[in-house]
Amino acid sequence: MKLEGIHHITAITADGPRNVDFYARVLGLRLVKQTVNQDDPTVYHLFYADEKGSHGADLTFFEYPGAARGRAGAGMIHRIVHRVASDDALAFWRERLAAEGLEPVLEPGRLLFDDPEGLGHELVVVERLDEPLLARSSEVPDEFALQGFEAVRAYVADPAASERLVRALGFEERAPHDFETRGAERGGRIVFEGSTARGLGGAGTVHHVAWATPPDEQEAWRRRVIEAGADPTPVIDRFYFKSVYFREPGGVLYEIATIGPGFTADEPLESLGERLSLPPAYEPLRSRLEGILTPLPDTRRWRRVGTPAS
Ligand code: ZN
Repeated sequence: MKLEGIHHITAITADGPRNVDFYARVLGLRLVKQTVNQDDPTVYHLFYADEKGSHGADLTFFEYPGAARGRAGAGMIHRIVHRVASDDALAFWRERLAAEGLEPVLEPGRLLFDDPEGLGHELVVVERLDEPLLARSSEVPDEFALQGFEAVRAYVADPAASERLVRALGFEERAPHDFETRGAERGGRIVFEGSTARGLGGAGTVHHVAWATPPDEQEAWRRRVIEAGADPTPVIDRFYFKSVYFREPGGVLYEIATIGPGFTADEPLESLGERLSLPPAYEPLRSRLEGILTPLPDTRRWRRVGTPAS
């Protein structure tokens, strides 16, 4: 039994419309779901991914309008690492991000940048047999597109304690402090960096990272987490997948999420993310919620397929 790499990563934004502009237009990801936070339906939960809304490429944001900027510290993920195909892709992104007023830093084999709210990203050139997970954007040629998650980088006070837990969950150390979990189809990594700096949750910070499991193995993973000394929640039905949450010893919030049912559970693949999706329990509140939530940019203009004629 192995976790299939990263399922999704969830972060916080203070500004939904700008977040959509950056992730859908600038980064060329597909907005595959606009829904609400299941614990607070007056705020958005936005999901970006590849064309099919795959696990392994799913970056999600809770929107807390006007939230103060956070800052990554001990117990937090501070950088999200995405795969790209080539050094030419790094050069493309350096130019594109600089034209957006960001300050990307090119290093051998990787490009570092922060999003407009300070969330850290890294693009790396990797050769993997894993299926590249691309969105078809009118803004980004396929050869340069992001291909899904490679890793997350986390600050923890005591890397040894954090590393014991991931070892107990079947991760293997590929380089010092760099651990990979690789399942039948995909792999993903977490890199631990020692830091005792006090972090502050808020806009531009990562809330949690979810690891992927086939649905029939989730209960077994939950038991494995307990045996490893952590304290998981019961299985929670998030409608698009089922989730178990727990804190690792360094304080980073982990989730183990099922592969499926996925984002086509309540709308067709062709029009994913084009309208507000509500869990059945919140459907009666639709008109009220639509009055509270900030209108978002129409992402269809940045899509290479399904663009309306109008
Ligand atoms: Zn999650």
